Amino acid sequence: MMTAVEPAERVAVALGARAYDILIGPGLVASAGAEIARRFPGRAVGIVTDATVGPLHAPAVEAGLEAAGIRAVRITVPAGEATKRFAMLEEVVDQILAHRLERGDLILALGGGVVGDLAGFAAAIVRRGMAFVQMPTSLLAQVDSSVGGKTGINSRHGKNLIGAFHQPGLVIADTDVLDTLSTREFRAGYAEVAKYGLIDDPGFFAWLEANWRGVFQGGRDRVQAIATSCRAKAAVVARDETETGDRALLNLGHTFGHALEAVTGYDSARLVHGEAVAIGMAQAFRFSARLGLCDAQVPVRVEAHLKAVGLPTRLADIPGGAGEAGTLMAAIGQDKKVARGRLTFILARGVGESFIARDVDAAGVEAFLADELAGR
Ligand code: NAD
Repeated sequence: MMTAVEPAERVAVALGARAYDILIGPGLVASAGAEIARRFPGRAVGIVTDATVGPLHAPAVEAGLEAAGIRAVRITVPAGEATKRFAMLEEVVDQILAHRLERGDLILALGGGVVGDLAGFAAAIVRRGMAFVQMPTSLLAQVDSSVGGKTGINSRHGKNLIGAFHQPGLVIADTDVLDTLSTREFRAGYAEVAKYGLIDDPGFFAWLEANWRGVFQGGRDRVQAIATSCRAKAAVVARDETETGDRALLNLGHTFGHALEAVTGYDSARLVHGEAVAIGMAQAFRFSARLGLCDAQVPVRVEAHLKAVGLPTRLADIPGGAGEAGTLMAAIGQDKKVARGRLTFILARGVGESFIARDVDAAGVEAFLADELAGR
């Protein structure tokens, strides 16, 4: 039996009885079976993966589980955001039951955020809650969606409206699996990495400005960027597990970003989530400068870095455009409650100095968007 490879980094998510580790480093897929056998002895494993990731990475996971004497079955869903829907949830739940996985067995989510959110939600509801392990394979999933226990699916009324908080028992982020991810998807995940610097870690943002090429290439810089991001997310989640307070800081760039995803019809050919967040973050900083909250040079610096890695930063960067200011405002109103013409936004006084602004004037946002659309 193979012994577990020592991960390059271990980040603890301090949640009392629901505490867990995030293991980060190269080569962890091959040793995942041994790690799971050690931490969850005697459990069968239902691997949920998508049709793109499964053929690439599931065989190595299955070989490791088999070598560790663990029964494993594979459940494959189509790749893509459309998989986060009731019909696919029913399919996954049905297969878990058909494979006779018991309450004490384990669901292993092997894929990007779509698989993690769907499999995690299935684990939350099958037999009133099964343990699950996240093996995130996209950069976005490694630095964001696999940590924190938000699981769920989309509704025709909007994204992520149906779900549960269900923490994983372990997260295994093998930094080598990102080598098969497309550059576009890697970049999209990188927007969330940069976000942690922009929220409250100016030193990390400066490090990224100097070392982003190494993060894209792989090796030590990639491990460090992912570990720093996970540490940042773990700290926020430990403070505010169910988002009653400052977990909302993680939404930097997401209010504008979600509106852009909505007006482009969630069409990944035009815009994927991380790209929308990149434009949204650049906008949040430009809007902050317009309100006089930060120096005019701050958004220039933020935009320069996002552009350097190849991310979009302007509405004009979206193929087919972003429509009209009124349509964008309507989408923002869907995403976040507008109370008496006031909005909640994450704004900034500088790089790494973001804060929750609860009383933003909606008319001011609309005027800002009109100027952005006009290229002013
Ligand atoms: P995704 O799961 O659709 O993955 C993106 C694409 O990359 C897919 O086509 C997938 O098959 C492919 N892929 C993934 N790993 C690969 C690999 N190693 N090699 C080759 N291809 C690979 O999308 P995503 O960007 O990972 O996640 C987005 C989802 O995450 C959204 O649904 C979003 O709502 C959700 N999300 C959830 C949270 C949370 O806290 N739960 C946080 C952020 C985002």
